Amino acid sequence: MARIPINIATGSLQKPEMIVGIDLGTTNSLVAIIHPESKQPVALKEHDSSSLVPSIIHFDANGNITVGESARALLETDPQHTIFSAKRLMGKNYDDLKAHADFFTYRVIDSNEDSLVKVQVGEKFYSPIELSSFILKELKHRAEHILKTPVTKAVVTVPAYFNDTQRQATRDAGKLAGLDVLRIVNEPTAASLAYGMGLDPSEEKTIAVYDLGGGTFDISLLHISNGIFEVLSTHGNTYLGGDDIDRTIVQHWMQQLNVSAASLSDNHQKSQSLRLLAERAKKQLSSQEQFSATWEGSRVQLTAIELQQLITPLIEETLKSCKQALQDAGLTADQIDTVVMVGGSTRIPAIKQAVSNFFGKPVNDSVNPDEVVALGAAIQADILAGNSQRLLLLDVTPLSLGIETMGGLMDVLIPRNSKIPCGAARQYTTHQDGQSDMRITVFQGERDLVKDNRKLASFSLRGIPGMPAGFAKVEVSFTINADGILSVKAKELRSGVAQEIEVKPQYGISSEEIEKMLLESITHAKSDMVERALVEARTEGEQILSVTEKFIQKNTTLLSAEELTATAAAMQALQLSLTMADKDLIQRKTEELNEVTRPFAERVMDVAVKGALQGKSI
Ligand code: ADP
Ligand code: MG
Repeated sequence: MARIPINIATGSLQKPEMIVGIDLGTTNSLVAIIHPESKQPVALKEHDSSSLVPSIIHFDANGNITVGESARALLETDPQHTIFSAKRLMGKNYDDLKAHADFFTYRVIDSNEDSLVKVQVGEKFYSPIELSSFILKELKHRAEHILKTPVTKAVVTVPAYFNDTQRQATRDAGKLAGLDVLRIVNEPTAASLAYGMGLDPSEEKTIAVYDLGGGTFDISLLHISNGIFEVLSTHGNTYLGGDDIDRTIVQHWMQQLNVSAASLSDNHQKSQSLRLLAERAKKQLSSQEQFSATWEGSRVQLTAIELQQLITPLIEETLKSCKQALQDAGLTADQIDTVVMVGGSTRIPAIKQAVSNFFGKPVNDSVNPDEVVALGAAIQADILAGNSQRLLLLDVTPLSLGIETMGGLMDVLIPRNSKIPCGAARQYTTHQDGQSDMRITVFQGERDLVKDNRKLASFSLRGIPGMPAGFAKVEVSFTINADGILSVKAKELRSGVAQEIEVKPQYGISSEEIEKMLLESITHAKSDMVERALVEARTEGEQILSVTEKFIQKNTTLLSAEELTATAAAMQALQLSLTMADKDLIQRKTEELNEVTRPFAERVMDVAVKGALQGKSI
């Protein structure tokens, strides 16, 4: 049952703050929400304008910034001050872009402080994060204008192949724009969600998402089970898309009209109008058989058949990527249950046909391909807002998370593949009398010894009041929020002393590294187990030794001379065994010492001994 807040002053329903879904695209961006009444995802738009906002930013001489359609109009007339495709620069350094230097009509430079690129516009330098934030700010304003309510929270989509740096950059861009990015979602995952996939927890299937946008092509293979999406493989070309189709049409017409490239190169107006005409022709031919218009007094025409011939090489290239993605995932085309079409360019019938032929099944194209990603982001946002009945868990922890315990052992609190958000807590104790500090070191990985895992963070719980060893009760709790941020809290329960830190477990780790760590954990499983057992035996032996020593010191007068000699001998034997890598020997000697001390320990039972034998020490 949902509670509905009512504003007492006005009697109207208090609108809960809306979390929007944002597709921050290379060519176009847009915002979608779940409609409060229909409960269906809708893209936001003003009256009869388009929901798409071109991802283009223009800087005028006075420092005014415009984003969208009006900036797009200046692309050809003011290229140095008009920035397009900022998304391609996210998290990139100049080396990454060198091969495509010609692509950018504005100045992309390497800044010295960090190796990430900046864009120079006039006297100013902008990072790709700032540029993206201008687009997000525009989207936020539009959404606020349409919804008549503040918009401060969003789910933003990124390509599945984006690495952690690029994801973090997207998150930072959101922050700069005044948006709290609650979740970064993969574009193919969002598109699948918009088709209703993954919402039924019992559903298990393999999906191919074919995304051909304005300047990029991606194919992603996903697997869903238990409402969790896993990316099996991705492939594509970050410099292939609808723009290339427009360019091909322009070249075709120039050839027909005998117009040389040189004659157009200094006439921006002319070349822009021809390019726009080509895009119009392309779009029209997605639903009609022919196109004709006049340009500079000449007739230009194109038929759907001609267009299909012109773009055959481009289609072939995308299918090559599909083949590669299948191969990488170890799948064949007939193992794909569903094919989803994404991106404006998939409206072209010849492309739908080719993809459908390739996978041997009809493609899913019923949801608007320009909007499908944003609509899926809105569904995810609605789930995060808690409005959806269907609880959908999209993310899992890729590696186990835990802390270091005595002897350098990994004590896992949250195992790998746990669905997030999640949490876990465990109690630990001190191993020294009067110990006032306890160091908590957080690790990620599957190996038994922390030295083989990845250290994420470390902090100290200070100010534990003086207590005998084993008395303090330190509860360490891990919480991972929906955003993948881990909070670690340590609290001494008797005194209430507490300390907390936040860690970003996935930041800076690539999927290859994760894979490598998992593989290593499998190959080392046996030796790790042996080593863990040895460390555990040693730790226990050391504890017994220290407890016994204290016990003897305190109670010498209560023990007989024979008892003292026997104890000393057993302690010495245990001490010696600790230097050897023989778990069984250590355990035997520990047991022998216990045998010797048991009778008098029972006699003079000390709580401290009992306490020290309980709980693990850090
Ligand atoms: P991105 O995801 O890269 O931001 P979009 O998915 O918005 O890009 O796709 C934009 C591309 O789709 C442009 O090249 C545009 O010309 C093309 N496009 C839009 N509508 C159609 C259509 N009806 N037929 C063919 N191409 C189209
Ligand atoms: Mg897109």
